[in-house]
Amino acid sequence: MKALCWYGKQDVRVQNVPDPTILNPKDAVIRITTTAICGSDLHLYDGYVPTMQPGDILGHEFMGIVEETGPEVRKLKKGDRVVVPFTIACGTCHYCKNQMTSLCDNSNPNAGVLEKMYGFSSAGIYGYSHMLGGYAGGQAEYARIPYADTDALPVPEDLTDEQVLFLSDIFPTGYMAAENCAIAPGDTVAIWGCGPVGQMAIKSAYLLGAHRVIAIDEVPERLEMARTQGGAETISFHDEYVYDRIKQMTGGRGADSCIDAVGLEAHGYTLDAWYDRVKVAAYMATDRPHALRQAIHCCRKGGTVSIPGVYAGFLDKFPLGAAFGKGLTLKMGQTNVQKYQPILLERIRKGEISPDFVITHRMALADAPEAYKMFQKKKNKCIKVVLKPS
Ligand SMILES: [Zn+2]
Ligand SMILES: [Zn+2]
Repeated sequence: MKALCWYGKQDVRVQNVPDPTILNPKDAVIRITTTAICGSDLHLYDGYVPTMQPGDILGHEFMGIVEETGPEVRKLKKGDRVVVPFTIACGTCHYCKNQMTSLCDNSNPNAGVLEKMYGFSSAGIYGYSHMLGGYAGGQAEYARIPYADTDALPVPEDLTDEQVLFLSDIFPTGYMAAENCAIAPGDTVAIWGCGPVGQMAIKSAYLLGAHRVIAIDEVPERLEMARTQGGAETISFHDEYVYDRIKQMTGGRGADSCIDAVGLEAHGYTLDAWYDRVKVAAYMATDRPHALRQAIHCCRKGGTVSIPGVYAGFLDKFPLGAAFGKGLTLKMGQTNVQKYQPILLERIRKGEISPDFVITHRMALADAPEAYKMFQKKKNKCIKVVLKPS
């Protein structure tokens, strides 16, 4: 089959690789019909994530048709159309039973690496390095789905691929980020990053009762999408001082909750943002947490900072004193996709949201290297790319 393979920093290639097969009785193999490039794929593309190996197949947002099932798969059969959660979950461990599927105890065969770094390992993730399991990703013609009964949601025929594809990651991720804010009626939610997850977080914040959403970015087309599609008020950090502006917009109080949908590759024009750039460039730091610092700074006393943006290592100049002094709640983590999929599928069916609004580009899998380049440079007003394997 054809697949998009990682070969190093900003080097991805479409190649012929062996077809996936059933390895375990609970596996299924699906033929992928639609897949997407995620903002977090850029952390791999830019070489920020350790334990990648040349030839690794990327992609964790995909869906398709079941081709083959192992002898212990009960809920799926050949021909079913499914969307796949990016977090791989066994369905039977303590965490899975309590709907914390991104913390699954059994789905990362290389758990030892993360146990050394973090104390305990999180779930395995498709196409996201060997410390997260070394699973082949879904920017390919076919993929193996371990624990297929837990990790493949059947979708109704009357919805298109593009309407349901983002149940794989960005819609549940934006939704969990908003839910983690425990939004009360009348609340103002400020969201850093108007990429695809930020856009889903804006919509989700309103779905969960926010009175007002303030979205922060510097890319004009992302800010425009936040306004026109999401109904957010926007701040360009290129043109304005974010803290001053948020204070002014909230009667001096600050935002009730703040969402960092940027993660470890934040850009900025303040002193701390330049400091991060220099330290990371000199290999003296792993993450650039400028957006997170600003979210903590702009959050009102007693508020919540919710972090769907990805962080990997040890954060420098982290303002824990401010978070402590203001009595903030910090909530974070990989998305428990399996928990949210049925709830959000229902919201899509009811017409409360159609997550495909975020798609700006549709390309063939064969053109994936071009797509990565365009997405990384934010060229051609690119916000979200979907890829068709054939
Ligand atoms: Zn993703
Ligand atoms: Zn589990």
